[in-house]
Order: sequence, then C-alpha cells, then structure tokens
Amino acid sequence: MAQIELRNIRKQFGDTTAVDGIDATISEGSYTMILGPSGCGKTTTLRMIAGLERPTEGDILMDGEVVTDKPARKRDLSLVFQNLALWDHKTVRENMEFGLKMRDIGKDERQNRIDEIAGILQIEDKLDVSPSTLSGGQQQRVALGRSLVRKPGVLLLDEPLSSLDERLRLEMRTELARIHQELDVTFVHVTHNQEDAMTIADEILLMNEGRVQQFDRALNLYHRPANEFVANFIGTPSMNLFDAEFVDDTDVYLDAGAFRLTIPEDMSDRYRGHVVEDQIRVGIRPDTLRFDARGRNGDPSFDASVSIIETFGDYNWYYLDAGLEDDIVVQSADERVMDSVGTGDSVTLSIGADRIHLFDKSSGTRIV
Ligand code: ATP
Repeated sequence: MAQIELRNIRKQFGDTTAVDGIDATISEGSYTMILGPSGCGKTTTLRMIAGLERPTEGDILMDGEVVTDKPARKRDLSLVFQNLALWDHKTVRENMEFGLKMRDIGKDERQNRIDEIAGILQIEDKLDVSPSTLSGGQQQRVALGRSLVRKPGVLLLDEPLSSLDERLRLEMRTELARIHQELDVTFVHVTHNQEDAMTIADEILLMNEGRVQQFDRALNLYHRPANEFVANFIGTPSMNLFDAEFVDDTDVYLDAGAFRLTIPEDMSDRYRGHVVEDQIRVGIRPDTLRFDARGRNGDPSFDASVSIIETFGDYNWYYLDAGLEDDIVVQSADERVMDSVGTGDSVTLSIGADRIHLFDKSSGTRIV
C-alpha cells in the first residue's frame, strides 16, 4: 500500500495545458477514481503518477518520498491499460509470470504468487490455456493478475472497463471493488463514467480543464457539490439549474421569473448572510422534487405542466414546463404519481428548502 501526494502538478504539451496545478493526497489503501470529461487531463495525471510523463512543474511523492524524477520501473506501482496487450502465444500462467522472471524472482515464489492472485481473481482453472480462448472479462482478469503478481503498492488503471459490453462492465466493476477489498493495494482508476466512479470509489478526484473541481467521497459530490460543474456532471439526470434573484423582504424567496420559491421562516437564516449577490443560480436534484400540492411544513412549491414522461420500470422521469428556458426534470418512483400523472397535466411540485442548492452566478461556486 502507498500514499500518493500530488503537489501543484502541471503538465504542458506545447501550447496545451493538460494539467493545470493539481494538489491532492490519495490515501493509502484507498480506491480512488480520477473522473472527468474527455480531454480534462485524467490520463496525463495518471501517467505522471506512473512516471511515464514528467510534470512541467510540481512534485509527486509516494509514501513521503519525492519520486518526480524516478523512472516508472523504480516506482512501487503497476499499470493496467485499456488495451490489455496479452500474449496469445503464451499461456495465462506465462503471461502472469513474465514480469516476475524479469525481476529475477525465483520459481517457487513465482508459482506461489500466481496461484494466490489467480485464486483471488477466480482464474485458477485457466492458467494453462491461451488468453485468446478466454472471454473479455476473463482476459481483463489476466491483465489484472499480471500486474498484481508483482505485489505493487499502487495499481493504476486507465479506463479498464471501457472496452467491455454493458453487462460485463457492471460485473467487472463489482469484481474490481471485491479484489481491492481483498488486497492491500492503493487503486487509482481513470474513468469518464460517473456511474462507475460513484459506485465503487472511496474517493473521487473530479477534474475539468486540467483542474480539480472536487476531491471527495461520492456522496459529498452528490449532496454537496463544490460548484456548478460538479453539480451538473454528477447525477443522472443532471441537476436542474436556473437563474434566480435572491430576495430578502418580509419573506425570503428565490424569484426565478416564472415562479417563486418561498423559503419557510425557520429555514431563511440558512440563506440570509450567505447570499451576497442578488443574482444567483439555483440547483435542484430531480429526485428531490415531489408531486405534492401542499408540500410539507410550507415547503417551497411551484406549478408546471408535464411535457414528456420517460418510463424506466420502477421510476419515471417527468420533463416539466414551468415557464423557464429549460424543462425542469423530476424523477419519481412514487406509484401513486406514476399511476395518475400524464402528459399535459397541470401539476404542483414542492421541495424541502434544505434540498435547494445555491451557486454564485459568476464563479459557479457553492453558496449553500
Ligand atoms: P480522455 O478521457 O479523452 O482520454 P483525458 O481526460 O484522459 O481524456 P488527457 O489524455 O490527459 O485527457 O489529455 C489532456 C489534454 O492534453 C488534451 O487536450 C490532449 O489533447 C492533450 N495531450 C495529452 N497527451 C498529449 C501529448 N502527448 N501531446 C500533446 N498533447 C497531449
């Protein structure tokens, strides 16, 4: 196991700034995901941790030791790429054994390690066949096995699930979580898939345009997004975001133009004192809105009409015209709602005032 510290890491490729000053400490033994949209600098960050790319500025430390100038082979880590690069003319055992032979590890020790890791990966009955005879998921396990027999302190994974079909991807991601639990290894896994990150990571380093947007536990990214980018990127469907004016009159309310969200008196101090500008961005998660005319305890509410309904079996997505530029999306699993609300219906929505997110309109950072 190893702790990895990134100190103000930057990487420039000619005029392109791939990574623009990252500070992060990846905990020893954690499963950390580096997440973000295409081109945000995830792979470059992973390659710098691996020692395959040298930072233009900044330092990388492993267990407190500066490794910035240490070559990849001298770092206590192993890499699994999207392209598995297995040798089909060798057996699974030979594929797993090769790196150990290169490191002059004796025969008995090699066999012990291969047997142990093959057991954890559940490929012990495949050791004597060629990888070409295995399924995609089994080949993935062989690639993992080849890295893990080296007993690295850190395992780096670059989009290991992206070449798998949907069913296999779900199966392998559960497997990765299980394998991580059974080993004393720090996993750092690059993905653009927020669902993969949310389901298995202990911590997620969410990047955009070369910078860290939030480095946190999955639930915090969902419930307390640090800024509008995080709010929008995490969660399916995305958070509803719209402009409003914050008004602190006899009542405290958020004026979206087409409707007002009046904040109950006992909640208004949550907003007073925090909101300094009148113009703000309001964020509401689709699963926090309720089809409920009266609301509970005078919760803020607004009227809308149903434009489109999408059905997923045990829940629906409702696209609502509430007079704003974009539809408001609501996710509901309430059977009474699913049975009774149809397209074209006039409805009233309510939301707990403590579930409303507010963001600074110019910087996008979270206010409350
Ligand atoms: P993806 O999810 O699409 O793989 P990513 O988040 O991993 O993207 P990177 O591959 O790290 O992003 O790339 C970040 C930026 O740096 C991109 O603009 C990319 O074009 C650029 N870049 C990466 N590697 C190089 C390179 N070797 N030479 C020049 N530019 C590069």
